[in-house]
Amino acid sequence: MAADARTRGWIEPHVVRPARLTDMNDTVTVSSISHDGQTDAIEVAVTAFLAAHDPTQMDNITFRGYRYDAGLAWVHFPKGFGGHGVRPELNRLVEERLRKAGAAAQDPATFFIALAGPTIVTHGSDDVKNRFLRPMFTGEEKWCQLFSEPGAGSDFAGLGTRAQHDGDEWIMNGQKVWNTLAHLADWGMLVTRTDPDQPKHKGMTYFALDMHAPGVEVRPLRQITGEAEFNEVYMTDARVPDAHRIGEVGEGWRVALTTLMNERSAIGGGGGGTGRRKGPIDDTIAIWKELPADQRTGARRDQLMKLYISSETQRLTNARASAKAKAGNPGPEMSISKLAMAEFNKLVTEFSIDLLGANGLIGYDFTFRRPDTLSVDGSEGGIRHSFLRSRANSIEGGTSEIMRNILGEQVLGLPGEPRVDKDIAWIKVPRS
Ligand SMILES: Cc1cc2nc3c(=O)[nH]c(=O)nc-3n(C[C@H](O)[C@H](O)[C@H](O)COP(=O)(O)OP(=O)(O)OC[C@H]3O[C@@H](n4cnc5c(N)ncnc54)[C@H](O)[C@@H]3O)c2cc1C
Repeated sequence: MAADARTRGWIEPHVVRPARLTDMNDTVTVSSISHDGQTDAIEVAVTAFLAAHDPTQMDNITFRGYRYDAGLAWVHFPKGFGGHGVRPELNRLVEERLRKAGAAAQDPATFFIALAGPTIVTHGSDDVKNRFLRPMFTGEEKWCQLFSEPGAGSDFAGLGTRAQHDGDEWIMNGQKVWNTLAHLADWGMLVTRTDPDQPKHKGMTYFALDMHAPGVEVRPLRQITGEAEFNEVYMTDARVPDAHRIGEVGEGWRVALTTLMNERSAIGGGGGGTGRRKGPIDDTIAIWKELPADQRTGARRDQLMKLYISSETQRLTNARASAKAKAGNPGPEMSISKLAMAEFNKLVTEFSIDLLGANGLIGYDFTFRRPDTLSVDGSEGGIRHSFLRSRANSIEGGTSEIMRNILGEQVLGLPGEPRVDKDIAWIKVPRS
């Protein structure tokens, strides 16, 4: 179906920006959106849609269902699959108009639609798109990401979860790990090894796994924050119909890249929202304002200004990238915002805790809990939570070292690191 998408002319490499979660939940401003025929068409479509559907008169799932049917779910997706085939930055315009009319914000627990949606629309068959996209967008079906394994994180292409063909079905056996919100999910984006005799990138296949199917077990993993936001997932003879395969057999690596690029864009703020709420820096400024005057030293003011400028630079860089996006999926350059955001969040929350002094060490509840929502920078849980949660930002969605590798090799064109197992059959690669 990728070919179908290309003939519609809406896929180009290096470009979709799913709106950033925090932007969806804050004021979205659209003043930077350039005005043209596509903008007018979307304005007209939203006006007509709101005339027929008042978000204050129905529940959010019903409203989002109508929204999908009207092509106002992901406006850059093709018509018939929740979109209008226009440029992705217009999603912000839709969001702002609907929110002003009283529509609820996206449920943060549905974060993974920013990954699964573009993956399915790019690589899924029409049947797969029709089966999954609408309930994903409404929030009736939640998703999680089943990529990492105990022996395959940064080297994700080395994964070993086996999928064996059996008639119209596949039998899954293996273990995934660090699976965020898998305890809430109805479906998992599952990448498996279907041909161990091929080199590692070639023998992989991508599926939608029913998280409630027999043989699928989800166990909590507790984090530094005290909560178990992520999980490990075991598959023991779990069966998946071939109809739930996403992309061709053996094409799992290519399909997974679409997920990963969109993940980095979603985590890094590639939505390019121009709202002035900037997450952790706002919390730092609030703490600063409460400090006694003798603690607001010149040296600290200097640090605060540097962090503020860094935050603004990221926001404006994302806004510019978003405005330039014409269509398609994001490319390796999205690693810039992922890397910058991860390192910045760690610095700014550390600075905030320093400002709080001894007070920063108390008042945090480490009780074990299973969150029913997601806050990537942790700011929804207060600064102490944010300080702890942001440690993970430079690991999840690809570590900062891996982001630097991608930028060096794929954006700057520097020589690649040695990859000695690239051409060897996966089964023959020595493992510890
Ligand atoms: C909060 C959180 C949520 C997550 N959610 C999910 C999820 O929902 N689904 C999912 O599938 N996974 C998830 N992950 C897993 C995440 O993608 C992996 O942790 C990450 O890719 C790193 O893999 P690893 O932990 O195996 O570390 P490793 O790959 O073992 O890396 C260990 C260290 O070695 C470095 N390193 C490794 N290879 C290289 C290299 N080639 N060059 C330079 N340095 C290198 C790394 O940067 C790191 O510092 C999550 C992780 C976290 C922390």
